[in-house]
Amino acid sequence: MSSVGRPPEVDSNGEPIQKSLVNVTIPTKLANFLKKKGINRSRLFVTMAQKMFDSEVCDKCYGETIEETLLGWYCKDCNGNPNIPLRMLKCKECENCGVRYDPPYNMFSQSKDKSVQKGCWDCIPPEERS
Ligand SMILES: [Zn+2]
Ligand SMILES: [Zn+2]
Repeated sequence: MSSVGRPPEVDSNGEPIQKSLVNVTIPTKLANFLKKKGINRSRLFVTMAQKMFDSEVCDKCYGETIEETLLGWYCKDCNGNPNIPLRMLKCKECENCGVRYDPPYNMFSQSKDKSVQKGCWDCIPPEERS
């Protein structure tokens, strides 16, 4: 569990992420399994919590200033610079074809003739996008 040589985790402003000690009680056999696997329990807990709440809390600064858009969710605190491409926390799936949005490669779109009200670049060719 030594962190010697590893730089401290920092938020989008370069401020060190403050940490707290939490105790968790889990089944002994599961604890033994994790130990055998050499799993870092702190990292595991953070990873699992992020996965469960990936559209509610930022995985970089752990802030809750989350904005929901057509494409998905992003942290407002970590995306304050308009010159830096938006980094999404979690992307939604296209309502038309089910493919996940992937800005800047796959964005929201509508078709010109309005046959597709809510689609994406994957399912609407460039010449048909409105
Ligand atoms: Zn953030
Ligand atoms: Zn689509």
